Amino acid sequence: MMFTAYSLYDIVEMKKPHPCKGRTKRFQIVMVGADIKIRCLGCGNLILMSRADFNERVRRVIESPGKLMPPPGAN
Ligand SMILES: [Zn+2]
Repeated sequence: MMFTAYSLYDIVEMKKPHPCKGRTKRFQIVMVGADIKIRCLGCGNLILMSRADFNERVRRVIESPGKLMPPPGAN
């Protein structure tokens, strides 16, 4: 099983695009806890899923800003 290392505010590519107008596969991680919250970079919608679901759906990390300040509207 593949394991992708990720952290808060990383930009990730998912295996499937979000079914919105933008149809982007790019999401940003905005919360990491027992569950993970990601935001669609196409429409801005927030999606909450378990870590197990996320691990299964993520393809790769595109960008990892590290300890930068949270982007506006992250919460
Ligand atoms: Zn979307």
